[in-house]
Amino acid sequence: MADCIFCKIANGEIQSQTVYEDESVRVFRDLSPQAPEHVLIVPKKHIENVAEFNSEDRGLAAHIFTEVIPKLAKDLNLDEKGFRLVINTGEDGGQTVNHLHVHLLGGRKMTWPPG
Ligand code: AMP
Repeated sequence: MADCIFCKIANGEIQSQTVYEDESVRVFRDLSPQAPEHVLIVPKKHIENVAEFNSEDRGLAAHIFTEVIPKLAKDLNLDEKGFRLVINTGEDGGQTVNHLHVHLLGGRKMTWPPG
């Protein structure tokens, strides 16, 4: 999508601190980290948010949750102590960038409930 910053980052048009990339996703460090480790898992395909996922995206969703996240957890040394995944969705969900992204946060003890 032409004016989408995460499309541009995911496709490499805009530089990012990339920690992982493959044919369908880019994972890069959040500009404003909320934990010692804070990366964003961003599909290269423009999908507005998780509510817009459809059956065509089943393979992508499975890839993110069964391959990318477990690999990141190991690579970032978060697999033993744990981490948090966040998918802000829409206005009430606190989504500020309208391109689906999964936050992966770790390296500190998280609190609950979130704000
Ligand atoms: P959300 O509020 O869930 O939509 O999250 C958007 C996230 O993207 C925020 O945590 C921002 O700090 C982060 N962000 C926005 N622009 C950039 C950028 N150019 N590079 C890295 N992270 C960004």
